[in-house]
Amino acid sequence: MKSNLLGYPRIGSKRELKKAEEKYWSAESNEVQLHETARTIRKQNWLEQLNIGIDLIPSNDFSYYDQVLDMVVTLGCIPERYQSAQQNLSPLDLYFAMARGIQKDGYDITAMEMTKWFDTNYHYIVPEFVQNQKFSLNPDKIISEYKEALELGIKTKPVIIGPVTFLLLGKEKESGFHRIELLEELLPVYHQLLSLLEQNDVEYVQIDEPCFALDLGEKEKSAIQHCYNYFSEKFPSINIILTSYFDSFGENLSLALELPVHALHLDLVRGQSDLEKALSTQFTNSNLILSLGVVDGRNIWKNDFEKSLSLIQKAIKAIGADRVWVASSCSLLHSPCDLNLETDLSKELKSWLAFAKQKLEEIVTLKALAENVKAQDILSKLVDNKKANASRRTSGLIHNPLVQRRVKALSADDSQRLASFTERQKQQREVLNLPLFPTTTIGSFPQTKEVRSWRAQFKKGDLDQDSYDRLLAKETESSIRFQEEAGLDVLVHGEFERNDMVEYFGEQLEGFAFTRYGWVQSYGSRCVKPPIIYGDVSRPEAMTVKWSQFAQSLTNKPVKGMLTGPVTILQWSFVRNDQPRSATCQQIALAIRDEVVDLEKAGLKVIQIDEPAIREGLPLKRNEWKAYLNWAIESFRISASGVRNETQIHTHMCYSEFNDIIESIAEMDADVITIETSRSEMELLDAFVQFKYPNEIGPGVYDIHSPRVPSVEEIEKLLVRASELLPIEHIWVNPDCGLKTRQWPETKQALIHLVDAAKQMRERI
Ligand code: GLN
Ligand code: ZN
Repeated sequence: MKSNLLGYPRIGSKRELKKAEEKYWSAESNEVQLHETARTIRKQNWLEQLNIGIDLIPSNDFSYYDQVLDMVVTLGCIPERYQSAQQNLSPLDLYFAMARGIQKDGYDITAMEMTKWFDTNYHYIVPEFVQNQKFSLNPDKIISEYKEALELGIKTKPVIIGPVTFLLLGKEKESGFHRIELLEELLPVYHQLLSLLEQNDVEYVQIDEPCFALDLGEKEKSAIQHCYNYFSEKFPSINIILTSYFDSFGENLSLALELPVHALHLDLVRGQSDLEKALSTQFTNSNLILSLGVVDGRNIWKNDFEKSLSLIQKAIKAIGADRVWVASSCSLLHSPCDLNLETDLSKELKSWLAFAKQKLEEIVTLKALAENVKAQDILSKLVDNKKANASRRTSGLIHNPLVQRRVKALSADDSQRLASFTERQKQQREVLNLPLFPTTTIGSFPQTKEVRSWRAQFKKGDLDQDSYDRLLAKETESSIRFQEEAGLDVLVHGEFERNDMVEYFGEQLEGFAFTRYGWVQSYGSRCVKPPIIYGDVSRPEAMTVKWSQFAQSLTNKPVKGMLTGPVTILQWSFVRNDQPRSATCQQIALAIRDEVVDLEKAGLKVIQIDEPAIREGLPLKRNEWKAYLNWAIESFRISASGVRNETQIHTHMCYSEFNDIIESIAEMDADVITIETSRSEMELLDAFVQFKYPNEIGPGVYDIHSPRVPSVEEIEKLLVRASELLPIEHIWVNPDCGLKTRQWPETKQALIHLVDAAKQMRERI
């Protein structure tokens, strides 16, 4: 048996890589220094894996920005717009230019697009393809990292993204072809690469094809077949480990099992059903090894050894121990680095957790246990593991009977507003008395250096609660005054008291914990620190009423209460795995519902429940969409339905592809939805128009991702477009998203233009 690691976090346990990169980007350090930091991180990772006892240690899982961008460079498909830069910049600077765009030294080239890596919160750089796309090999990174490890005495397993997944993840930049047709052009380059690895005595290569977790058409399936047959004919001595993860192979399993590869990796956390099926199949390839991904790379819970062992034993019984490996379910890129750094977590909670480093130990221990090692220290690890998991099952820290009872008692009425939208709209109009094209913003105002420094000082204890509150009150008041002067119709308090739209709520809810160093790479140098939802969620007291009520007391205009929705809180956290996600989501929904009701009681007539993460929660396989959408939409409705008809519920969803989920979006039944549309020239509205979306909409008319101030004419033009598409009495006027990353001067100017544009629109009628 072997222990097999698919990949490891590369940011460094204290975000060393992030810090080194940002220094390099701001010219405070040079390339040599950055390389040095990177080399240190790689070395530490490899030695850690070696010392703990991992057999198949990955290389090329390190990246300065993103593994897909690395592959773009390796395969020589650098988009044409970087050609001039290619001649003058160092390879590293060219690489960063592709990732981040470049606007200096006479260059002005946009970055490559970025999008979410399957259903994770990691973002990859989208490869760009043209019809007569050429590829050429640039193996430097892979080979040099392999040799670097070799110098440490470690023979690694290089990890590359497979050709089919690479093509499918990309995008055609011109019409007239499908990117999968480029396979013939691409395969010779993979051939060169594999030959080179073979010449370098590489024994194992891990080829990631997570596209196996998606619904594949015939075209894609035959592409895969073609690819791996081709490799096997040419490479008798290199052992290909073919991996997929994040969901089961499902329908694609029989194809995968037929492929002439050395080992096939199964994600048994997300795709347990694959194992049973695989074991009952007669493999043609009777030596095929199965790599069993039993240690969850996507979550932070301690493995349940008993359960994992039973899966491993099943496999051993069917195909023999020499054909079974123990592995992480996917790369540990998606786990925080090291639990040992967490000195503030309660001992009990800590005893239930495992971060990347601890997961290495789990993989190795599981292998030892499965090999039936009777050594006392190994057996005692099994006992400890059983104890930890048993304590979690019964701990009072987790289980709150009141919350459970409340969820059980939920009825259809709880997710239903009192009256239909048409009726509510009438009553809301009477109360709010807004003009046509009402103007509003999405919630946050600039989080200036000062605001952030107050929070930092307050957290450190250098600023007491009273002084902190006074500063926030002043900032809130001046934001209200500005909004009144600018002539906005529905005001917001500005969210100055909030660090992050999930953390702020998590910190006040029961059942959530926060780490100090639990960082996970989101993209490039950006990391997130998701809260841990470990127990039943409840709301001991109101979370946002104070600031919303204060803001409302300053003005006669309606102020909009501002909340994060249950699905988004769930989606951006590490979620407990001892109950279905839907159950946790319902609990959060009830907590948010209570907050909504309290805001109403406090006099807020408009309340926004942000749900930007609904779309990203969609399962990878389409036949599971419906079940997810059912509970996700129901959770939103639970949170929104505790109020009177006159109270207007908004939701905000950022940028999303709405086409295939528009029916569910409509089922959310928010009185008003605001979305990001300014960059797409209102294209995103199409889904709403075709569906005849019944409620009110605020299509964003100000691109908040750029410091650029849009002119009145530009905004008006977008509004004219919107009013050609939608009933004008349904249209709101607002920016694309929150303004917290902007500076005040441009924000003020842009909002004044926005209000002006709305006035122009009213005059047209
Ligand atoms: N209310 C939040 C804000 O304005 C919404 C942010 C978001 O949708 N991502 O910051
Ligand atoms: Zn947004």
